[in-house]
Amino acid sequence: MTTLMQKNYQHEVILVGEEPHPPYQRPPLSKNYLAGEIDQESLYLKPLSVYENAGHHLRLGVRAEQIDRDKKTIRLSDQSALKYDRLVLATGSHVRTLNAPGADLKGIYYLHDIADSDALREQLLAGKRLVIVGGGYIGLEVAASATKKGVNVTVLEAAGRLMQRVTGPEMSEFFYAKHSNAGVDLRLNTAVTGFEAGDQGRVAGVTLADGGTVPADIVLVSVGVVPETSLAEAAGLPCDDGIIVDEFTRTEDPAILAIGDCTRHRNLFFEKMQRLESVSNAVDQARTAAATLMGEEKPYNSAPWFWSNQYDVRLQMVGLSQSHDQRVVRGSPGEDKGFAVFYLRESHLIAVDAINLPIAFMVGKTLVQQRRKINPEILRDPDIDLKSLVIGPQTSS
Ligand SMILES: Cc1cc2nc3c(=O)[nH]c(=O)nc-3n(C[C@H](O)[C@H](O)[C@H](O)COP(=O)(O)OP(=O)(O)OC[C@H]3O[C@@H](n4cnc5c(N)ncnc54)[C@H](O)[C@@H]3O)c2cc1C
Repeated sequence: MTTLMQKNYQHEVILVGEEPHPPYQRPPLSKNYLAGEIDQESLYLKPLSVYENAGHHLRLGVRAEQIDRDKKTIRLSDQSALKYDRLVLATGSHVRTLNAPGADLKGIYYLHDIADSDALREQLLAGKRLVIVGGGYIGLEVAASATKKGVNVTVLEAAGRLMQRVTGPEMSEFFYAKHSNAGVDLRLNTAVTGFEAGDQGRVAGVTLADGGTVPADIVLVSVGVVPETSLAEAAGLPCDDGIIVDEFTRTEDPAILAIGDCTRHRNLFFEKMQRLESVSNAVDQARTAAATLMGEEKPYNSAPWFWSNQYDVRLQMVGLSQSHDQRVVRGSPGEDKGFAVFYLRESHLIAVDAINLPIAFMVGKTLVQQRRKINPEILRDPDIDLKSLVIGPQTSS
């Protein structure tokens, strides 16, 4: 919607949103908003008046229930209907729930929207015992925010290292040390089997596959998200763990586009279809969709990037590292100066993770986008200015 406003789109745009809030950013929900450092209004992408002044309308607190593709109409939860010429599905994702015994006890939380963050913040009182199920980036961000408030935090992670899905071993080890030093009790290779009840239907503990129990006053389950495809599926649009869209964000129905977390999409930057949960992907796909709606042919073709804030650490990541065959570490995890891990496949740079080293991230963004072939020794050498890799000649082996 914002890009369409910037492009001076001449048609009426109506945004239907189930939540009562205007469009907002979710990343602070596990970071400074959860910590109580910023207020709700600072989450909003734009003041309400900006949409109205541009002649666009927000229908908030209303769910889209059904799409009639033949009549080009959507039915809403307030029993009204809307006609469309073009429809953009940006239905996002919902949290994956843990269906284990005791999962409905009071005191078990999930974190996806403003209401979740508000409810969790109220519980984060000094001296309470918070158990977080899942050592991914959202779980760890909450661990950092809660620890700062004096909450006793335990993280239970089924895999052998933290953030295993999104980063390499050096970063996992770095974050393990960071959280351990802050007093977080981290347990890897630890599978959860259920929840134990205490007084008045409240959770009192988390039970483990090895037979043990971890006592808890509050539990946060943070085990990933599932793309919200129910509306699209019911309308007969092809879905496969995400609504299938091409590099122009088009579904198989020429009148319907889909963007963001809810899609499995083609991005020309990758060889295969992707599903991503990140702000950069949502924003880049939104720009692509705006171009498609304006009749411009601008395919999605960019390396995704992410970030995470935990304590005084800013992790910035560009590209997807999973298929690397070589890792190069620049700097040392123990140093204050920051460090970075470069991921290469067949000598081409495919991803960079940088800790408090924005220059590695900025240069990495350009080099990853170009899939540059780079001599690893150049990346490793702290005496070589990373900026010279973008403008200098000595980048290839
Ligand atoms: C706590 C938290 C921290 C995060 N931190 C980061 C971070 O640091 N960096 C990063 O890159 N990403 C982060 N993310 C992920 C990022 O926020 C998402 O990738 C991004 O919000 C996806 O945007 P979206 O527009 O696709 O979907 P969403 O932001 O999920 O928005 C979809 C909206 O559609 C609404 N909706 C769904 N179905 C219907 C319907 N039928 N009718 C009406 N409305 C409907 C939903 O209620 C929701 O408001 C974080 C996410 C969370 C929850």
